[in-house]
Amino acid sequence: MSSFQSLGLEENLLQAITDLGFETPSEVQEKTIPILLEKETDIVSLAQTGTGKTAAFGFPMLQKINAESRTTQGLILSPTRELCLQITSELKNYGKYVPGLNVVAIYGGASISDQASKIRKGAQIIVATPGRMKDMIGRRMIDISKIEYCVLDEADEMLNMGFYEDITEILSHSPKDKSTWLFSATMPKEVANIAKKFMHTPLEITVGSRNVGAENVSHEYYLVNARDRYQALKRLSDANPDIFSVVFCRTKRDTQKVAEMLIEDGYNAAALHGDLSQNQRDLVMKSFRTRQIQMLVATDVAARGIDVEDITHVINYQLPDEIETYTHRSGRTGRAGKHGVSMVIVSKSEHRKIKAIEKIIQKSFVKKDVPDGMRICEIQLFHLANSIKNTDVNHEIDSYLPQINEVLADSTKEELIKKVFSVEFTRFYNYYKNAKNLNIDASNVSDKDTANSVRFFVNIGRKDGLEWMDLKDLVRELTQLGKDDVFHVDTMDSFSFFNTDAKNSDKVLEAINGIQFNGRKISIEISKEGRKKGGGRGRKGGRGGKDKFRGKGGKRRDKGFDSGPSKFKGKSRRKSSKPSDKGTGGRRRRR
Ligand code: ADP
Ligand code: MG
Repeated sequence: MSSFQSLGLEENLLQAITDLGFETPSEVQEKTIPILLEKETDIVSLAQTGTGKTAAFGFPMLQKINAESRTTQGLILSPTRELCLQITSELKNYGKYVPGLNVVAIYGGASISDQASKIRKGAQIIVATPGRMKDMIGRRMIDISKIEYCVLDEADEMLNMGFYEDITEILSHSPKDKSTWLFSATMPKEVANIAKKFMHTPLEITVGSRNVGAENVSHEYYLVNARDRYQALKRLSDANPDIFSVVFCRTKRDTQKVAEMLIEDGYNAAALHGDLSQNQRDLVMKSFRTRQIQMLVATDVAARGIDVEDITHVINYQLPDEIETYTHRSGRTGRAGKHGVSMVIVSKSEHRKIKAIEKIIQKSFVKKDVPDGMRICEIQLFHLANSIKNTDVNHEIDSYLPQINEVLADSTKEELIKKVFSVEFTRFYNYYKNAKNLNIDASNVSDKDTANSVRFFVNIGRKDGLEWMDLKDLVRELTQLGKDDVFHVDTMDSFSFFNTDAKNSDKVLEAINGIQFNGRKISIEISKEGRKKGGGRGRKGGRGGKDKFRGKGGKRRDKGFDSGPSKFKGKSRRKSSKPSDKGTGGRRRRR
């Protein structure tokens, strides 16, 4: 293993590294830094999240720029405001002994004129999100015509977020002969394409294998009935009393709902999604960082770039639509050499996705059982014993001790211990004593539920721009049914089928029949034919009709169905999500 000295870094940077407490370079740093210092070259560097990519490009850039000049020489593009601020502060730390250095962050949601005035003072390095950057170049507030280095950080996430055009536009204002350094955790074809388009014979550095999730994350899944999803989430949390986690949901609406339920149930939880104002999001993130929140319930978009250390668990409350997203989710834990766990709560209908994810991450999932009630009581009891053992005594109570002793004078130590533990234990015991087993048997996963379900026929289909997922979203929106309550969705050209539980059939007929869709009246009836096994779901060809369906939905895929202007009458109930102010008496959970 080499040292930072041997990589060719100058003394003032080495001094900063010592101050930061970095002892040895990580693999990506070891492989990337010497090349970037030595050559003027384009480079593609692939390494998992949390492997220290910021320093891998940060130090070479700091060494190569001329801090005595006021000209902008380096540009770093990053997907989110969070990351942009983080990179900026890292670079400032790395360059604290570089006299005259000025690193400026450019991002949306903050005063553009303040940012412009910082730029006018002369920024050798600009760290920016693509949207705001494009805007400021357009207004001639920023000149990147003389940059020598351009970093595309988290390129995969930038492309995921639909920044391709913004990046193209920004780079068209930069010189052709600059060096471009692309950093990414994964290498989907979009990233390969961008490398082809914007770079000249880039060197490629790969740490670990491509598209693989973090090494020290273990992957677990829990198979439950869809209706037990929330109960399973609670148990997984209760079985891990020190949990510090991000809980991923598929839509903003589910994110908000799950967070509200958790708060209601006394957990230290909060929601993070795009319907919150920047201010609210900052507040939530602050509470999360300071551990006032133990469970951050988030959408994929909102969670991008969350770089909070020591996240113990990532919980996939629902799997993402695009299974590739799983890598990003699980990469939020297991950072900086620590072990992390990524848990997936799956219902029967999603069970097969686990296999597909295993292929992508090239690791196996362990199927685990949701702990039963008594196991959780046991875990909580021992957790309490250990917390008591490790608690620092608060001497503020000393003066009350004589009176407290008087109150408890008649109890022996044994009795006291029993009573103290009963206070906590009884709460869990009462909640869990009659709790049922949530686990279901994997062997009879597929067709069991068809027996009690009804198959519907509707007169809309692919011609109306609906792939199965779109139809499912539509049915759910109209009926307010849950994600797993609508299943076996098959879209044909001019008609489609789907199933729901028999008990929902009146509700479905009533909610959908006669609704106008794309200027046509939807007619729905109960289908006489059952679903043919494996019958033509046609899931392969992507979700082609989606954009049409979503109308103005915009190019960012992540703007979910429930965020766009709805074609249908009112539903969304939007509350602001403040970090829970309940349970101020410590992390106590109330049920
Ligand atoms: P990535 O961009 O690859 O996801 P980061 O650059 O954000 O990772 O680094 C993750 C964390 O590791 C940061 O907190 C960073 O300060 C720390 N770090 C980076 N390099 C080292 C090192 N050589 N030794 C110890 N910690 C490091
Ligand atoms: Mg990074």
